[in-house]
Amino acid sequence: MDRASAPGEGSRTVVAAAGLTKRFGNLVAVDGVDLTVPAGRIVGLLGPNGSGKTTLIRLLLGLLRADVGRAEVLGRRVPDWSLLAAVGYMPQSDGIYLELTVGENLRFFGDLYGGLPKGRIDEVLDLVELADRRKSLVGDLSGGMRRRLSLACALLHRPSLLVLDEPTVGVDPALRATFWHHFRDLAATGTTILVSSHVLDEADRCDELVFMRAGRVIAHGTGSELRAAAGTSDLEAAFLRFAGLGADGRPEGGPTVEGSPGPPAGRGDGGRP
Ligand code: ADP
Ligand code: MG
Repeated sequence: MDRASAPGEGSRTVVAAAGLTKRFGNLVAVDGVDLTVPAGRIVGLLGPNGSGKTTLIRLLLGLLRADVGRAEVLGRRVPDWSLLAAVGYMPQSDGIYLELTVGENLRFFGDLYGGLPKGRIDEVLDLVELADRRKSLVGDLSGGMRRRLSLACALLHRPSLLVLDEPTVGVDPALRATFWHHFRDLAATGTTILVSSHVLDEADRCDELVFMRAGRVIAHGTGSELRAAAGTSDLEAAFLRFAGLGADGRPEGGPTVEGSPGPPAGRGDGGRP
């Protein structure tokens, strides 16, 4: 089955954000973010809780309006509802209906996306290992099962861009490995994946890493680029260096590049490595 396509597909850049800024009252949740995501890559958005990952994702999807800046997805300025068919979104808090069964949820999302080819629901249920829970009410499922269903809903229409907000939280290690296998397969067939996490333990599964802190992109590159730039093989340590923090998490001014304090060589511009 072909993936859902959208205007602009085939262009190298799937997500392009410039100067995106979002304030909630006095809090600047996303602060002047520039980001480019090339097609067919798995890009990890990594940062501690509260660093602005979810807000950035919602801006990119057009679910929130930016105060400043702009974003394009698949060549379309967001918000643009015509992108619905081309984008799959797994929110951090599951956007599924507790009072419907697993199968009914999938059918609902399938209809929303304009219908599905025969057998597609069975396919995604197998993938997330929920085939035997098809008739269960979602309200009766465990948190991990709900995450799996939420992923199934995001994958259902074979979107060309998949945006996953902390998809593996509460998912057991074996299924986590299965998920990543599938993400890799999807990327190999041209799907672009933006995946957030507040832990770094899955970072090396991504093609590119975007480190976020306090609403800003503090580094962007491949894992090896970021390690080299920070002068450490440990990504946690690299994150702290880009954040200008010492190993104890306290400010140390950060490495200096040409007289300006900040990350050693990471990019905030989201350029392709
Ligand atoms: P992350 O996903 O990295 O944990 P978020 O994007 O959820 O970070 O949040 C970034 C900051 O913005 C946090 O301080 C959070 O409390 C705040 N925030 C997020 N959404 C809202 C909102 N709707 N209203 C007020 N503050 C918000
Ligand atoms: Mg979040």
